[in-house]
Amino acid sequence: MRRALAVVAVAAAVGCIGVIAPARVAGQITVEVPVPSAKVLPHTRAERSGYLETSTFADVNAFIDSLRLAELPYTLGLLGRSPEGRWLSYVVASRPAVAGPEEARRLGRPIVYVQANIHAGEVEGKEALLALVRDLLADPKPNVLDSIVLIALPIYNTDGNEKFAPQAVNRSEQNGPEMVGQRPNGQGLDLNRDYVKAEAPETRASLALLARWDPDLLVDLHTTDGSFHGYALTYAPPLAPVGIAGAFVRDSLLPVLRQRMRTRDGFETFDYGNFDVEDAGYRGGVAGADRAPGDTAVHAWETYDHRPRYGVNYVGVRGRAAILSEAFSHDPFERRVKSTYAFVRELLSLAAERRASLKRVARAGATGPKPGTMLAVRARMTHSPYRGPVIVEDMERMADSTVLTQPGVPRGMRRTGHYRTVQLDVYDRFDPEYSVPVPAAYAIPADRDDVVRALRMHGVVVQRLVAPVKASVTAFTVDSIVHARRTFQGHNETTLHGRWLAPRTSTLAAGSYVVPTAQALGALAVYLLEPESDDGFVTWNTLDGILHDGAEFPIVRLPVMPKVSRRAVP
Ligand SMILES: [Zn+2]
Repeated sequence: MRRALAVVAVAAAVGCIGVIAPARVAGQITVEVPVPSAKVLPHTRAERSGYLETSTFADVNAFIDSLRLAELPYTLGLLGRSPEGRWLSYVVASRPAVAGPEEARRLGRPIVYVQANIHAGEVEGKEALLALVRDLLADPKPNVLDSIVLIALPIYNTDGNEKFAPQAVNRSEQNGPEMVGQRPNGQGLDLNRDYVKAEAPETRASLALLARWDPDLLVDLHTTDGSFHGYALTYAPPLAPVGIAGAFVRDSLLPVLRQRMRTRDGFETFDYGNFDVEDAGYRGGVAGADRAPGDTAVHAWETYDHRPRYGVNYVGVRGRAAILSEAFSHDPFERRVKSTYAFVRELLSLAAERRASLKRVARAGATGPKPGTMLAVRARMTHSPYRGPVIVEDMERMADSTVLTQPGVPRGMRRTGHYRTVQLDVYDRFDPEYSVPVPAAYAIPADRDDVVRALRMHGVVVQRLVAPVKASVTAFTVDSIVHARRTFQGHNETTLHGRWLAPRTSTLAAGSYVVPTAQALGALAVYLLEPESDDGFVTWNTLDGILHDGAEFPIVRLPVMPKVSRRAVP
């Protein structure tokens, strides 16, 4: 009786609807002894519904609240507000609990930031992360929370999450649940293309979080978009060939995770990719290997994109480790939650083990790229793939091209459940396409405070001259300006071509801004400011109004840091 009352009380307090699993309740509440507080562990909406439903924004908040009611210690953080006014909350979990980044740093542990639901129809990360936080906090035995600080953000795109619609509409390539949110945020922006231009409040808030907490590892949880392969989950390191974070994650973390996912968790995983064929909109190996040479056979498995507009790549350019996680969209929802749960749990453990290496990666970039070294501001998929095994699922065409055989499978197609391992060219990395010598600094004209604001939003340190300074400058002459025809995320991306002139002595006016590259975000500053960068301020039209053929680019390189008096650097 006492037990029943306790359950009812908690269910009401956290606004739960649905059933709290009796076995769980029985395990938590002692019948004979009166309980002063009801330590009932919450269940996610996915768990409560038998994996038929995913959590609403209110469900997520109620779940987090109920962790506190269950007397599990954590710190609640508020990242910021969405365009529609929803708070983005995150849980900081560690033992002992930490109140903020200073306390976290004093522990000297890796800080791991895991975010889910940036594409709000891709829902298993949200469910897996909530369940994992609960299980780790409630675990009476020592666990990874004794060795790391976990920042868990279960629902990054809160507005998108609330735009529930049938999965056939919002996530046509996914196998459930039936109702899911949409990909864009409340402004219609794809948040995983926004990390450079930072137009969304969510992005701005997350840049502030990166500055404040400086996580050693970021993990971004997604679902794949359609290729029929044989992996429960695919992953990617930072792909921009800048700094050492990407190679560290690719060569030191991911192979270990792959091995552990196979042997400890029973999930096959691999590098994120898609087959190099498109067949009636279907991305996958439709009997590809059986086609005649010269036909549209599958030859390659290709990763996605290196540009820092994507969160994981962006964090890599900031000099920190990051991992993209992509659960297999054709697995049932429950299996996707479980593979994502296992992957995150494994990588938290690995981060604890590799604490020294993660700190070494962070230290390597602490003073910025060395002036004179080459830094890639454009990249292309490698021309040297390796030949290796990739698991393909055979697909079958139905006689009736309109029949739907499984949610997420194109009409007229059927999964056979027959998997084959084929040898493909695996493109898992990008190589530099165009690199620039890192200058000591950049100078920005006094009236371009829009550029300065943008740099500071990213956390780049910008100085201002209060008096004119003579300096050696290298300027760029614009030969051509190309605006993309296609509008993408509200922009027609700009590409510049031109020439760098010989250095000359020039006077930088009072009020000009100087951006030294000898700073923690020096590489990022180069990527954002270089005129021929493939994902910088030029790309996103910040400077469109003042670019002219034959004219000089307004931002110049300074080969040597000018002598700026202390007084002149407020
Ligand atoms: Zn996604």
